[in-house]
Amino acid sequence: MSPLIGTLAYWREELRRHRTSPSELIRLLAHKIEEKDRITHAYLSWNLEEALRQAGQADAGSPLGGIPVAVKDNICVAGEPTRCASRFLSNYRSPCDAGAIVRLRRAGGIPFGRTNMDEFAMGASGENSAFGPTLNPRNARNVPGGSSSGSAAAVADGTAIAALGSDTGGSIRQPASHCGIVGLKPTYGRVSRNGLVAFASSLDQIGTLTQDVRDAALLLNAIAGHDPEDSTSDTRSPEDFTSLLGREVKGIRIGIPYEYSSSGNHPHVRGAVEKAAKTLNALGAEIIDISLPHSEAVVAAYYIIACAEASSNLSRFDGVRYGLRADDPKNLEDLYARSRAEGFGPEVKRRIILGTYVLSSGYYDAYYARAQKVRALIAGDFTRAFEQVDFILGPTAPTPAPLLHDADQTPLQRYLADIYTIPANLAGLPALSLPCLSPEASPDDLPTGIQLIAPHYREAKLLSIAYALEQSGLAH
Ligand code: GLN
Repeated sequence: MSPLIGTLAYWREELRRHRTSPSELIRLLAHKIEEKDRITHAYLSWNLEEALRQAGQADAGSPLGGIPVAVKDNICVAGEPTRCASRFLSNYRSPCDAGAIVRLRRAGGIPFGRTNMDEFAMGASGENSAFGPTLNPRNARNVPGGSSSGSAAAVADGTAIAALGSDTGGSIRQPASHCGIVGLKPTYGRVSRNGLVAFASSLDQIGTLTQDVRDAALLLNAIAGHDPEDSTSDTRSPEDFTSLLGREVKGIRIGIPYEYSSSGNHPHVRGAVEKAAKTLNALGAEIIDISLPHSEAVVAAYYIIACAEASSNLSRFDGVRYGLRADDPKNLEDLYARSRAEGFGPEVKRRIILGTYVLSSGYYDAYYARAQKVRALIAGDFTRAFEQVDFILGPTAPTPAPLLHDADQTPLQRYLADIYTIPANLAGLPALSLPCLSPEASPDDLPTGIQLIAPHYREAKLLSIAYALEQSGLAH
């Protein structure tokens, strides 16, 4: 097991008691990054000087009291590079903070380090970064998952206390599962998307990657809330997401979808879900078999909608306004074409081509409009399920982390691995991945995670159930 660095809750207490200072903590992290990041490559950059400057101004009485938090490279931090791990943006610096970073700073958090990712958050392994892949700290032969590969690896490697990521189809939960940490994708709209470089705007959501459940609640407290700059952000008043931690789970109804127990799931994944169900049952929860009948269609619907939105969102990268610009263009079209050809990697190009195709006249109704109807059916499955149960339990990913550079995997196989995480994005629901070790696995095996999905805005309760599971020693 890789050494973690001490939780956010722990360091917050240390800071409150003045047993350490934010500057000392940042120096400690910088030292760990220097020591370990050559192997894992979880970070694209870190600005020690700027972090130390902010540390000098940190307010020990604020909720996070000067805790450094690593930030995925697609979330804008003023003055820092925001490259989305793309050649296209290799010289780009954010002019301002994302809404989530404004809140993070207000709560006393210090953004420290830009974490590696799949280019423009497209991928599930971290291998699509233009700056080289991140390796799984638990086993360097494996990927850490993605697209928030660096955020997950940094937390698992003890080079970050906690990190922010983004989740469009599983990019927080799946790498959390592969690295043995906690990943939370909040309800769509819970955290401002302003300043998150858009991939698929109707699915994108910023969330947390942390060492444990309490830290997820503490970090969500810092970043959640309305932002007038994001019209889709939720207007309800702030909540304390730690408030239900420690509550009993007795009487809670947990649904296990029949469709999520495919024979294609790795035995350790199956074992983990069974163990979580047994544990919940022993804690007094009721386990109920349910069905999400449109599960078969989730991958197809997601890849049509996500690619369609991506093709539109990424049209802004044209060589005129942002980032890379091809040399000596013959005319405007040549400038567009060559800037995009040189700036984007193969997966991003594949998505833009797919997205343009499904939106083009003649195909729009057959693909895009149909995928939207399927999306409504998938959301309806959850509405019906939540009339019967309070939460849904299943795997986060069908297998533990794949090997790095596994040439046998086709893009379609890679897309299919998102099958259990995508539904929560299509339906806008909060979902959390929690480390859970199957009884047949040894602690030296790669980690696996279980996923809990909740109704909209039920993060506090979701966290309390995850906390109860965590306290019962699920990860061991
Ligand atoms: N793996 C999914 C994809 O490649 C999800 C990515 C994400 O959540 N950003 O689209």
